[in-house]
Amino acid sequence: MAVMTRKTVVLYPSLGVGHLNPMVELAKLFLRRGHAVVIAVVNPPDKDAVTAHAMARLASASPDITFRLLPVPSCGKDKHYSHSVLRTMDVLRAANAALLEFLRALPVVDALVVDMFCVDALDVAAELAIPAYFFFASAVGDLAVMLHLPYYYPTAPSSFKDMGEAVLHFPGVPPIRALDMTTTMLDRESEVAKERLRQYMRMPEARGFLANSFDWLESRALDALRHGLCTPGRSTPPVYCIGPLVLPGQTAGSAGGRHACLEWLDAQPERSVVFLCFGSLGTFSAPQLGEVARGLQKSGYRFLWVVRNPPEQKDESVEPALPEGFLEKTADRGFVVKNWAPQAEVLQHRAVGAFVTHCGWNSVLEGIVSGVPMICWPLYAEQRMNKVHVVDEMKVGVAVEGYEEEIVKAEEVEAKVRLVMASEEGNKLRERLPAAKKMAADALKEGGSSAVAFEEFLRDLENCSSEFGKNSM
Ligand code: UDP
Repeated sequence: MAVMTRKTVVLYPSLGVGHLNPMVELAKLFLRRGHAVVIAVVNPPDKDAVTAHAMARLASASPDITFRLLPVPSCGKDKHYSHSVLRTMDVLRAANAALLEFLRALPVVDALVVDMFCVDALDVAAELAIPAYFFFASAVGDLAVMLHLPYYYPTAPSSFKDMGEAVLHFPGVPPIRALDMTTTMLDRESEVAKERLRQYMRMPEARGFLANSFDWLESRALDALRHGLCTPGRSTPPVYCIGPLVLPGQTAGSAGGRHACLEWLDAQPERSVVFLCFGSLGTFSAPQLGEVARGLQKSGYRFLWVVRNPPEQKDESVEPALPEGFLEKTADRGFVVKNWAPQAEVLQHRAVGAFVTHCGWNSVLEGIVSGVPMICWPLYAEQRMNKVHVVDEMKVGVAVEGYEEEIVKAEEVEAKVRLVMASEEGNKLRERLPAAKKMAADALKEGGSSAVAFEEFLRDLENCSSEFGKNSM
């Protein structure tokens, strides 16, 4: 067998810490195999920038990874965008020049791995004759849908937003209601839908997809991709499921010590607490917070709730956003955290019995690796599609009814909490979760599907070296 040479890989995340974190976990995978990794971080000069501070924090936690900030000119600051994703696209396009210059200056680059929004960076890789791969940090089911959409949407009877409950069929995934499609796609006449469709069409230009998932979890979607069903008439690059790559559960000892909510969990009985957390951005209106509070109160279960103030409410404390007296009445069995809790660590705590989640993919994976059943409450982006995968395909969660309407009622929150914590249906979920947790752990072990897939990917990289020769830098 040929000996694998040490590779230098450049990872290229999209804007924001949410995209950077999974890339850092991917970087660790390369490092563990003895390869060199540089993460090139786009740094636009405005408030959305991944700040030097955030990067320094990550760099000090992972000293073996080299981080480089790529400055980009101020871009789109005064322009009005119909969707925030369009702004991100503009910034990333503007960053291509800096990426090109940066890669040219490196003595060697064996591969460029870009995230799902950095599609136009494929041009940079092509110019330098570097093999390019995507790191797809969402469900493989989402990848199957996205690759198929350019073929599907033009022939659909109308925009998804006008199709409501109509059920759509994509290869390898359960039926999806039109209203559950990723939010950028709802209006096919919109600029953002046209732009994303253009990008989905380009994605198969990459040499392969590294997916943050594992074979057992999404075998049907993987089969559909591997059999070319998602890109009719065109071959689909190989999909390497190398996950689940999630934040380490153990962050204690890092700056600030152990979070108070973990101390509180220590004092709670096993599997007795409902944990509610809605990603890095999720917020609710004050009336919706009130319904959640009443639902939790009526359920009688213990809870740990990460609360953010409604966008219009600027108070320091979250208390004014919650029903009067709620905190006092539930003080003996509830713990409210403002804005941010160490989610990965919380989920791994033995006291947590259910996870109310917005279905961001990292949250879904963290729920699975911790063996905690989910109550899905999707909010934006591709989270409604993830809800479909979690509930209908993976069967590791249930959904709250009414998330697509203005408000989810307290009675529904109460009902779903009761269902998951103590019911026949809940029993089935609770039985399935330890199996999913074990499959996730097995996938990553030596000889497991994800470990093998990563080796296959590395072999492909090795083959590239001979195909591409010494790249043109
Ligand atoms: N997260 C956390 N504490 C919070 C909220 C979020 O640690 O209070 C972490 C969570 O563990 C996950 C990430 O932030 O790793 C959120 O990523 P996800 O893909 O779930 O959702 P997004 O924030 O991108 O919508």
